[in-house]
Amino acid sequence: MLIGGGNSAGQAIVFLAPQVKTLHLMVRRSLEETMSQYLIDRIASLPNVIIHVGTEIAGVEGNRQDGLSAATFVDIATGGHQRYKIRHMFLFIGADPNADWAHGCVDTDSHGFVATGDGALPLETSLPGVFAIGDVRAGSTKRVAAAVGEGAAVVAQIHAKLAGDRVAPTSTSPAPIKENA
Ligand SMILES: Cc1cc2nc3c(=O)[nH]c(=O)nc-3n(C[C@H](O)[C@H](O)[C@H](O)COP(=O)(O)OP(=O)(O)OC[C@H]3O[C@@H](n4cnc5c(N)ncnc54)[C@H](O)[C@@H]3O)c2cc1C
Repeated sequence: MLIGGGNSAGQAIVFLAPQVKTLHLMVRRSLEETMSQYLIDRIASLPNVIIHVGTEIAGVEGNRQDGLSAATFVDIATGGHQRYKIRHMFLFIGADPNADWAHGCVDTDSHGFVATGDGALPLETSLPGVFAIGDVRAGSTKRVAAAVGEGAAVVAQIHAKLAGDRVAPTSTSPAPIKENA
């Protein structure tokens, strides 16, 4: 069983389906709303994929020893519940940033992604001299090429920051570390 209707879910279905007898896909909306057409076409050619549109996960059952044993889904239109005995479930329903440690240190958005660009440098956080790039950055495109591009761009911004600090040190510049202190 696989849950989610984005491109990550689509890629996983194409990979998993040939390896299992039946793959149930649980999605809230039709795939056309959330998945690229090339993946929808490939999934349509997989005879063992059963798509349950308009369903949302409501609960799972199991224990640490035996693992997953069942899951319950709700039909969004009717509110009816359906329980399935299952052993394997793959979730592709989004991600949370692993940035709890940064809260209170740099500004984050309502979802916990690190905010950047309020100052002069687009990738600098609210704490001068601290930069954020890639998926953890609020508003970034969650793609490999975007993360790599931001990685390249931030180097120039760090150089600009250091050059500016050398010209005009501010009270927020970190204090020099004394060796053998
Ligand atoms: C299932 C899936 C499929 C995807 N498919 C595609 C695709 O087809 N094409 C595409 O372009 N993008 C895809 N993506 C998105 C892509 O993986 C990300 O956009 C990209 O990896 C972001 O790079 P990043 O360096 O910002 O973050 P990540 O690649 O997530 O790297 C962050 C790193 O930081 C580490 N880390 C986290 N917290 C800490 C901490 N506290 N201390 C130290 N290290 C820490 C993590 O372990 C990780 O190694 C997919 C993502 C997923 C989940």
